[in-house]
Amino acid sequence: MKRVVIVGASAGGLAVAEALRRAGHDGSITLIGDEPHLPYDRPPLSKQILTGQWQQDRLPLRPRADIDALQLDLRLGVAAIGLDPAGRTVLLAGGVRQPYDGLVVATGVRARHLPGSEGVTGVHTLRTLEDAVKLRSRLRPGRRLVIVGAGFIGAEVAAVARGLGVDVTLLEAGPEPLTRAVGEDAGRFLAQLHRDRGVRLRTLASVAEIVVAGSDVTGVRLTDDTVEPADDVLVAIGSVPNTDWLDGSGLKVSNGLVCDEFSAAAPGVYGVGDVARWHNPRFGTTMRVEHRSNAAEQGMAVAHNLLNPGAQRPFAPVPYFWSDQYDRKVQSYGHLHGHEQALVLRQDPHHWLVSYRKGDRLTGVLGIGVPPKELRTWRALVAARTPWDEAITATDTVAA
Ligand code: FAD
Repeated sequence: MKRVVIVGASAGGLAVAEALRRAGHDGSITLIGDEPHLPYDRPPLSKQILTGQWQQDRLPLRPRADIDALQLDLRLGVAAIGLDPAGRTVLLAGGVRQPYDGLVVATGVRARHLPGSEGVTGVHTLRTLEDAVKLRSRLRPGRRLVIVGAGFIGAEVAAVARGLGVDVTLLEAGPEPLTRAVGEDAGRFLAQLHRDRGVRLRTLASVAEIVVAGSDVTGVRLTDDTVEPADDVLVAIGSVPNTDWLDGSGLKVSNGLVCDEFSAAAPGVYGVGDVARWHNPRFGTTMRVEHRSNAAEQGMAVAHNLLNPGAQRPFAPVPYFWSDQYDRKVQSYGHLHGHEQALVLRQDPHHWLVSYRKGDRLTGVLGIGVPPKELRTWRALVAARTPWDEAITATDTVAA
């Protein structure tokens, strides 16, 4: 493998480059990213950057010297706009054709917008450093922020904004926040957490339109015709995988780049991180995981597979996620999506532990304020694909 091209210069792409060099790859590595910045970390955008605890200079994943030491052909501020897998070339904006022997697609996702809200002053999404800096500059005591979508990002921003004295309304289309992700009981717990801190949470709220006066947002109209007045609106309704540049390449795209258990999408082409929908043999299903640690782990796995085509390893992680909401850490291990049962194992005002079943297996666990050691024990049960009944009877031992 002489020439590796990585498209997407963020957590996943950088992890591939670093793992290749650690493994002794001495061929070229071209890292292409359409943002102008050195690879930076996104989780702090809705946490330390938004609270103002961190300045932007803390965001880069590595100092410049560490990036230089990787001896990359680094192309920042350059977008890939096409791919020819047969000719093994990536087409870059500006017309350059970049040849490769191995290609990594690590282009992540972008925030989903509400139609008609683009370009309206005061309407935000949160995916990039620029988004976070802009939103931060608008969050001041007494201002009214309406957040559309009580997923993890919407809920984190609600928590931070309350801390900054902002008047927050959180709109959720489902019966409770995060119901699809974590189940109704855990959603209810999170809902109460927000209400206790003064967030006005409206569930079963469906947005009809963003209300605009001139070029400024003034509110959000719901389908019941009520209007939530706003100085700012954060649209946090999920994401769209960045796969448009692969159109016409023949690679299979279906809510992400479709990859096999080795994270391969075609000979010599691999997917990494938020953009990749790969077959996880541990859970016997395809999944696309928008978790920071998954991007890094898949990056390392793909580096191995690029360098060892005859001894590829399947990528079979137990996905891990964390989210900070007020003083609580929410953490989960496993594959919660599509669960058939969510069983609350423990609940008190400070702790909440839920296990998830699909078929006859324990497939995941979620803890709010639960000690990491205890959660790791649950992780081991998920990793071992423990039968549900057995896992549940082990509860007392785990908690002991
Ligand atoms: P990305 O970080 O999305 O990077 C992809 C890069 O590719 C971007 O720079 C993009 O601009 C670039 N790109 C796209 N298209 C092209 C193209 N055609 N050509 C060139 N470059 C291109 N995860 C957690 O586990 N816990 C958290 O608490 C958490 N908090 C988060 C908070 C926020 C506000 C956000 C936005 C994300 C959060 N995440 C969290 C998710 C985590 O940040 C992602 O899982 C991680 O960034 C994925 O890395 P990636 O490299 O796959 O994709």
